[in-house]
Amino acid sequence: MSRIAYVNGRYVRHLDAAVHIEDRGYQFADGVYEVVTISGGRLIDEAGHLDRLWRSLGELRIVAPMAREPLKMVMREVIRRNGIVNGIIYLQITRGVAPRDHPFPKNATPSLVITARRLPLAKAAKTAAEGVAVITLPDIRWARRDIKSVSLLPNVLAKQEARERGAYEAFLVDEEGMVTEGSSTNAWIVTKDGKIVTRPTGNSILAGITRAALLLELKENGIAFEQRSFSVAELLDAREVFLTSSTSYVLPVVKVDDKVIGNGHPGLVSQKLRALYEKFMARETA
Ligand code: PMP
Repeated sequence: MSRIAYVNGRYVRHLDAAVHIEDRGYQFADGVYEVVTISGGRLIDEAGHLDRLWRSLGELRIVAPMAREPLKMVMREVIRRNGIVNGIIYLQITRGVAPRDHPFPKNATPSLVITARRLPLAKAAKTAAEGVAVITLPDIRWARRDIKSVSLLPNVLAKQEARERGAYEAFLVDEEGMVTEGSSTNAWIVTKDGKIVTRPTGNSILAGITRAALLLELKENGIAFEQRSFSVAELLDAREVFLTSSTSYVLPVVKVDDKVIGNGHPGLVSQKLRALYEKFMARETA
C-alpha cells in the first residue's frame, strides 16, 4: 500500500505531496501542528488534540481552513487510505502562501497538510521496560511555549544533543534552574517522600495532552499529585523520574545526566502510571 498524504483538499501520493516555496510555514515557521497517536485504528484523545490545535490557531490568529467535524473525517480518511492500525497522524496548518513579507498577508488561505505513519509497538514496549536516559540543557526557546508552533529549532538542537550523548530526551531548564519540560515531552518526578510532581501549565510549557490525561487518571484513582515547578537538584535527587507524550505515553527515566535514578530500573510508580495510561488508551480504542 503506497503512502497517501492530504494536502489542501487533495489526497496525493506521499512522494508527490508538496506545498509552495512561499508557504509561510516554510519561510517563517508561521504555523502550528498536532501529533495524535493511532492505536487499534483509533485516535487517542482526539478531542484534546483538536482543542489544543484550535487554541494554537487562535493565539496566532490563523483561521482554521476547515471546521472540526470535516477535519475529523479527513483524518479518518488519511488513516484508512494508509491502512494504519498503530502509529501517528500529523496535522500542520500554516498561514498559507504569500509573497515573503513579515506582516500577516491580507488574502492568504491557510494551508492544511496531514500525513500518517506506522510506529512499531514492540520497540516502544522494550524502551519502556528498560527506561531511558535524559540530559539537562538550558531552555533557549521563546516565551510562548504554550503555542504548538512548528518553530522547533531549539527543540531540534536539544534532541540532537541528547542523541549524541546517548540519551532519549533533553529536559530543558529555565533561568531560575527549574525544569520546564522535555524537547518533545513533559517532565515529571516522584520525590523521595513519594509525591508526584509536574510543572503547571502556562506560557513556559506546552500543555501536553498526555500530561492532562494522566492527571485526570490520577484524580480518578485518588492518587495525589502536585503541579509545581521543580529544580534540577530535585530532579537529580528524585526517587523516580518519568516523561509523558503522545508517542512515548508514560516513559520511565532511569538516568539524568550522569546520575542513576533509583536502582537504574523503571520505578514502581512510573510503571503503575504507565499501566494506568495504557488502560486509558484501551478505553479510547474500545
Ligand atoms: N512538550 C513539548 C515541547 C512537545 O513538543 C510535546 C509533544 N507534542 C509535549 C510536551 C507532549 O505533549 P503531548 O502529550 O500532547 O504529546
